Amino acid sequence: MNKIMNPIQPHELAFDVDGVFADTFKVFIRMIRDKYNINVKYEDITEYDFWNVIEIDEAISRKVLQDILDKPLQIGIKPIDGSVEILTRLLEIGPVHFITARNNQSAIMDWIKHHLDLDNLEYIKIDATGSHLEKLPVLLENNIKYFVDDRLETCYMLDKASITPIIFEQPWNQTEHPFQTVHDWSEISDLIAW
Ligand SMILES: [Mg+2]
Repeated sequence: MNKIMNPIQPHELAFDVDGVFADTFKVFIRMIRDKYNINVKYEDITEYDFWNVIEIDEAISRKVLQDILDKPLQIGIKPIDGSVEILTRLLEIGPVHFITARNNQSAIMDWIKHHLDLDNLEYIKIDATGSHLEKLPVLLENNIKYFVDDRLETCYMLDKASITPIIFEQPWNQTEHPFQTVHDWSEISDLIAW
């Protein structure tokens, strides 16, 4: 078991965006319902690769995902409950680093800037790597020791490279795993050496 026993120093911690800070799949579900009349419950997304578990036309999901990547602010993705408060507190201490497999860095930067209500962006670091695999070198280069993510496969990859993953619980990461799980942002806060 990879449970975290010692408090985490803020500079050793970094965050994924979608499914951890951004409540992305809520909007996905709303968009496919409103635009395409496809009814799916959040709990039905039991795999990260959702097309394996819900019935959705590939062209539709591609279109919706493109909007999620390019217009996160405009389509109304909200921060996950409690995230803004904890991230704001971290920003008072030092830089906060987000590492996302998204490819459109400026779009997600605008979203983060808006929701953290920041004038000074000096303290925000964001790497949009364009792939899950590319998160690893970025984490290593930045000496990140702990990473909060919602995708199990990514967590196994990081674990092999001695980065301690923290799983943010979602319907798509319910299979048994050895990693520290958090259910909400107050549990992330509990792990930090404030
Ligand atoms: Mg994610």
